[in-house]
Amino acid sequence: MNNPSESITLLIRGGRVVDPAHGRDEIADLLVVDGVIQAVGRRLDLPSECRMMDADGLVVAPGLVDMHVHLREPGQEYKEDIASGTRAAAAGGVTSVACMPNTQPVIDDLSVVGYVLERARRTGRVRVFPVGAITRGLQGQMLTEMGLLQRAGCVAFSDDGRPVTDSGVMRRALEYARMFGALIIQHAEEPSLAGNGCMNEGLVASRLGLPGIPGAAESIMVDRDLRLVALTGGRYHLAHVSTREAVQAIAQARSRSLSVSCEVTPHHFSLTDEAVLGYDTDAKMSPPLRGGVDRAALLEGLAQGIITIIATDHAPHEEESKRVEFCHAANGVVGLETMLPVSLELVRDGVMSLTACLAAMTVHPARLLGLPHGTLGVGQAADIVLFDPEESWTVDARRLHSKSKNTCFHGRRVKGRVKQTLVAGKEVYRDGQD
Ligand SMILES: [Zn+2]
Repeated sequence: MNNPSESITLLIRGGRVVDPAHGRDEIADLLVVDGVIQAVGRRLDLPSECRMMDADGLVVAPGLVDMHVHLREPGQEYKEDIASGTRAAAAGGVTSVACMPNTQPVIDDLSVVGYVLERARRTGRVRVFPVGAITRGLQGQMLTEMGLLQRAGCVAFSDDGRPVTDSGVMRRALEYARMFGALIIQHAEEPSLAGNGCMNEGLVASRLGLPGIPGAAESIMVDRDLRLVALTGGRYHLAHVSTREAVQAIAQARSRSLSVSCEVTPHHFSLTDEAVLGYDTDAKMSPPLRGGVDRAALLEGLAQGIITIIATDHAPHEEESKRVEFCHAANGVVGLETMLPVSLELVRDGVMSLTACLAAMTVHPARLLGLPHGTLGVGQAADIVLFDPEESWTVDARRLHSKSKNTCFHGRRVKGRVKQTLVAGKEVYRDGQD
């Protein structure tokens, strides 16, 4: 029997509750008992023993689910570790992260999965779900034991950071994963076309005298992959889509009812390759920032529901690996703490509704990964973000919670500020503290 005096009750009062999973967008109260959502509705009765949280003027939404994060632990703790990465997540309103397997050692066997989960349990502030490697050591040749890895807690499989280039290996990966209903996430880039390129191929690259990576490097591999999905019936997710052609290919595959999805990062939909002018290495990532036509197609893809997920590709790098000549700088940017406000620009610009925008960061990735999160349904864990949609602030790299400061949004004026983040009803972040 539960001792009622030990139960913790929390009433979040009078906020704008936006829960895309249930089509809810209204001023309402939310009752949380022992970390679980007990009721959502207007003017709920105040239980006798209860903490009250005033959410007047705030949006109360499901905690964000970011399905593309590099936590760097084990092996590169000087860039990020599970403690610092999940602290950054909490500060960004993110309550669940899927972490990529390109750690050292790679997440390709049970012991590494166990290690990540154990470290997350001990040091993590938010929920951590490992993504297992598709191939051993990310070498692109031998498949991992996906069934065992999935049972141990892996929510998807990817060689992210690298593409699976060998068509036969990709075919077998899709077939094998299908036996367990597992999801294959591809970093699509044909290496022979990417060559030694370090930014988008185009006018800006010519002006800067930098070698470019054509959009075709992405779309050719996506085209190949989609043929393999049709052949195998596998589940396929394209990470960080960046080109118009790839969006079109995904749209076509979805219209044929293939099990295909894609995500876009806030930097790809909000910036173009012009951000590289001045050789700013914090604008260097893989795939590279593209031109205006591609960016417009990403926005259109979001508006039309072809791109259903926003994910950060949070990729922390210490200063030394960024403060070098552009072509030699490491690829990637941090993103956990800027995902929400930069994505809210989509709402202000009329690209999508607040509900659709939040769905792309909550219920859509959660469902794809088979997680019972990203909703405010009664009976669900109380993973919640409270944010002020009107508060403006300026992104300051030095104030990020992440160990690494490589943001491409430093100095950007944004609107929408996380006030509080809860995981299972427990506060893991509060604005102005820590
Ligand atoms: Zn990637």
